[in-house]
Parts: sequence; C-alpha cells; structure tokens
Amino acid sequence: MVNYYSADYIFPVTSAPIKNGVVAVDGDGLVTEIYTAIAADKLGLDIKRMQGIIVPGFVNSHCHLELSHLRGRFKREQGLLNFIQQVIANRNAAADNIVQAMQQADEEMYKNGIVAVGDISNQSISKSVKKASRLFYHTYIETLCFKPDDAKEVFRNAIEIKEKFGELSTSIVPHAPYSVCKELFRFIAHFCKTDQNPISIHNQETEEENKLYRYKTGEFIGLYKKLGISLDFFRPQARNSLQSITPLLPPEQRILLVHNIYTNLKDIYFLKRLDKDITWCFCPNANLYIGGRLPKVELFIREGFDITVGTDSLASNDALCILSELKTLHQHFPSLKFADTIVWATLNGARFLKIDDTIGSIEKGKKPGLNLITRTDGMELTAESEVQKLV
Ligand SMILES: [Zn+2]
Repeated sequence: MVNYYSADYIFPVTSAPIKNGVVAVDGDGLVTEIYTAIAADKLGLDIKRMQGIIVPGFVNSHCHLELSHLRGRFKREQGLLNFIQQVIANRNAAADNIVQAMQQADEEMYKNGIVAVGDISNQSISKSVKKASRLFYHTYIETLCFKPDDAKEVFRNAIEIKEKFGELSTSIVPHAPYSVCKELFRFIAHFCKTDQNPISIHNQETEEENKLYRYKTGEFIGLYKKLGISLDFFRPQARNSLQSITPLLPPEQRILLVHNIYTNLKDIYFLKRLDKDITWCFCPNANLYIGGRLPKVELFIREGFDITVGTDSLASNDALCILSELKTLHQHFPSLKFADTIVWATLNGARFLKIDDTIGSIEKGKKPGLNLITRTDGMELTAESEVQKLV
C-alpha cells in the first residue's frame, strides 16, 4: 500500500524544495516516488494534503540515553564543572528505573521525528532498549581517564563493553580533552587504525578546558585535587585544547566535535590547515541549560566542515527534540536559514554515521522517515513551529 503525502513544501534536502510536491511512501517506509504538483495532478493520486513543510526524519547526533532518569534533577546555569559533579553524584539508580527512563526517552525521540541517534554510553545498560527500538542507534562507548597509569585498564574495559553490545553499531571514544590523558588517546588512536571507529568528543564546553591546556590553570586544577587525581604528569600546551588533542588521533580519522562553545576562529583554521575530517555538533538547549551560553555558530558556517545537531541528555535538556534545538538556533542567530539548518539536522548527521544510503534525505529508494513541520512562515521556522511524525 502506497501513501501519498503533500504539504506546502516537500524538502528533500539533497535537492531544492518542491512547492506542493507529493512524496509516495510504501508500507515499509520506502520512498517510491517524488512528484511535482503538476505531475501528481495528472495522475489523479489519492493524496493526503497538509499545511507546512515535509522534511526527512531527524538525526540526533549527540545524546546520553543512560542519563534519562536525571531529567529535571539539576538546576540551570550552574556551570559545567558543577554539572559534572552533580552527574557523578547522582547517576547511580536502580537498573529498572534507568531502563524505564531510557524507554520513555526512546519513545519521545520517535514521536519527535528522530530516526537515528549517536548515543554516548559509559556502560552496556542501554543495549536492550536500543535493540528493541524503531530508531537506529550508533553507540559511542565513552572512556574517561586522566591518570596515565590507568589508561590501559580503562581501554580494556571499553573493549569489554563493546563486546557486550555485540552486533549493534559501536565505537570507542574519548569523553573530553580535560578527562582523557595522552596515553588513553594513544590506545584509542591505535584502535581507530584497525577498526571502523568514528570518534565523538565533547569539545570546549567550558573555557576552563582551554585554561587547563594553555596554562595549566583554572577550575579543573581544583576539581582534580578534590577527586584525588594528581596532575603532575600534565604539561601546559600553550594552545587551546582542540589544537592539542586532534593531532593525537590518526590524520584521516572521522571526528565529531560536540558543543564547541569556546572554539574560536584560530581553532577552526588550525583544523583546516591540517585538513582534518571534522564534523561539528551543536546542542544549544543543553548549552543554555548548563552554562547559559551558546557557541559562536556563525563562525563555523562556510568553513568547509559539516555541522550537525544534538540534544545531549535529559539531565541537561527539557526534551529530546531536534526541532526544538533548531528553533533555539534560529531564535539566537536570526541570520540562519532553515534551508541550511535542516541539512544539519538530517543529512549531515546521517553522513557522519555513514547511514546516508538509507536516511537523511527524501530520495527514491531511501527510508528516511517523514516529518511534517507545521506553523511555519513559508520556508522558515517560527517560535510556534511543531513537528509531527508522518512515517
Ligand atoms: Zn554530552
């Protein structure tokens, strides 16, 4: 059975928007044809006509399903270091509660039109939820270790978690420049050479990370002291964290840099000079929740790197909704065009995960999922825009 959907615009993403276009989708969600309004009229199809813009399913490029049970637990704008300590102190809970919260989060993402997720995990507890989900998950098994002597053990543990995920799509990744020592980077880099291992890393989410790398000063010194971890081994690098850690990964490595609130133009030019395979990921609602500040998004546009969008976890967000992230971006950066940001929210995320052969754009032969964005202003979002999953 083929259904025909039409709206004010069909936005395939890989081609120009089609005014009053029609997209045909079979019972399995496969796009069988895309018609112009005139072509569809001639065929006399039975069309479901709606107001708004039809776009492909969203890709959430950064989430932590494991932290879903922490929804609403932390105060806003307390800063990243405070947030990290809160997560460490509160993340443990009964397994049943964690699993139930993850199932709800998965269902919420489905309803909000998300079809694929890049999900950070520190353990294997999310496996059953991911296996049963209608969404595609790639799990980034996240490692943290700022004690060179422990790096080998931490990496070995990550390999064990990867084995527990079995046939599901996974890779082993570093948490953040401030929490991963060179030795652990070395293990991960070596692993990247032998395995398809897309890297995601939290990047410059706080200026304290740059201070640590540039001068070995700032709030991380106090935090590590409190945690009983000696920083004697660490030498200041006289450059920002991003410029210090990206050379530790193989030259051809595919890297997703997440947050980028304190990334500057020098950092971006550094990556261009090295010809790195970088994709940026912005999580604006989580940034506002944790620190009340956004990355300088306009700096990143037209520098030759892909941009993607993520929700981060429910510990630092009110919802797992990519449209809501886009609305925040458009509200704070009025010069952005929806024609650009919809690519960030769909195709670019799929490209990074190398699943763009099936999702990310509305094309014949793909199964991208279809979302209807309502309450739009022509081809632009409004503060009232909403998403409805069609397929
Ligand atoms: Zn995160």
